[in-house]
Amino acid sequence: MDKGSLASALGSASVFGQSQFAFTRGNAFEARVKADGGAELLRLVHDGLDRGAEPPAEATVHLPDLSATGPEGRAARTSLALREATGAAGAWTLLDHPMLALEVAGSPAFLEPDAVVVHPDGSWTVVEIKSFPMLDGSADPAKVGAAARQAAVYVLALERVAARLDPAPRVRHRVLLVCPKDFSNLPTASAVDVRKQRAVTGRQLARLTRVEEIADALPEGVCFSPEQSAEELAAAVEAVPATYAPECLSACELAFHCRARSREAGAVTCLGRPVRAELGGLSTVEDVLAAARGEAGDPDDPAVAALRRAAGLRAEALAAAGGVTGCH
Ligand code: SF4
Repeated sequence: MDKGSLASALGSASVFGQSQFAFTRGNAFEARVKADGGAELLRLVHDGLDRGAEPPAEATVHLPDLSATGPEGRAARTSLALREATGAAGAWTLLDHPMLALEVAGSPAFLEPDAVVVHPDGSWTVVEIKSFPMLDGSADPAKVGAAARQAAVYVLALERVAARLDPAPRVRHRVLLVCPKDFSNLPTASAVDVRKQRAVTGRQLARLTRVEEIADALPEGVCFSPEQSAEELAAAVEAVPATYAPECLSACELAFHCRARSREAGAVTCLGRPVRAELGGLSTVEDVLAAARGEAGDPDDPAVAALRRAAGLRAEALAAAGGVTGCH
């Protein structure tokens, strides 16, 4: 389902994703990197990954047209362009925003890397263009890690395309990360080895529950089409259990909707997964307060015992301070 449309239809559109400003700035930087037929980008690939090859300025450079209708059409066009480029030995080819298909949980997912370069030796490289700065040759490790995980998925998808060719071309496991240099608008690049991320993602993909199995577990008649009324959609979403946590805010379009539901229900997961783990079987704030007051809960439960001890200490501290005792 399209969770962004679903969240909007439910009246809880999420701001999850990039800000408009960051988006515009990122697009402007990417356009600059790819200007002049990708001359700068190919120079960075040559310098960072393939110094032994003929420089792109002196070799033939191809920029295939990848436009087609729909993601399936674009993926087919990309496969064809990759096949042709791999056969054109001695030339550099830049595929700008190719479309790749990868089977995820038994269903095709379409992926769009910033660029894929075919080297003169016929090997393929994924290029990721990011707008975070690279200072003195290194960037924020968390952001580089996220970019590496993203690029590793593209590498896996490219390997599926390569496996259908005979002989199968080499998909390079060092990708090129292009960023602005020292807060300027000038591009600089770093080669990133994504072998580890590729192996981890490959294992995770192999273990995913198939979409059909997840769909089979849904109650009969549940449908998430955004064309339905807000009431029907709310009922459909309600029919599926959700365990909201603050981490959802940076990862899921339905976060605002689930957060509102979770607060209404007084669920302790609103307070974060570590708190939930500490509280064991106590799943609502009401249960927690009742346990702390000694009105409910098994006294042998370590979470209940800890809450009662904490409530007692609080009451003592407030009494000593001359304040009002009680548990709020
Ligand atoms: S619980 Fe979190 S991950 Fe699941 S649908 Fe809600 S916001 Fe998304």
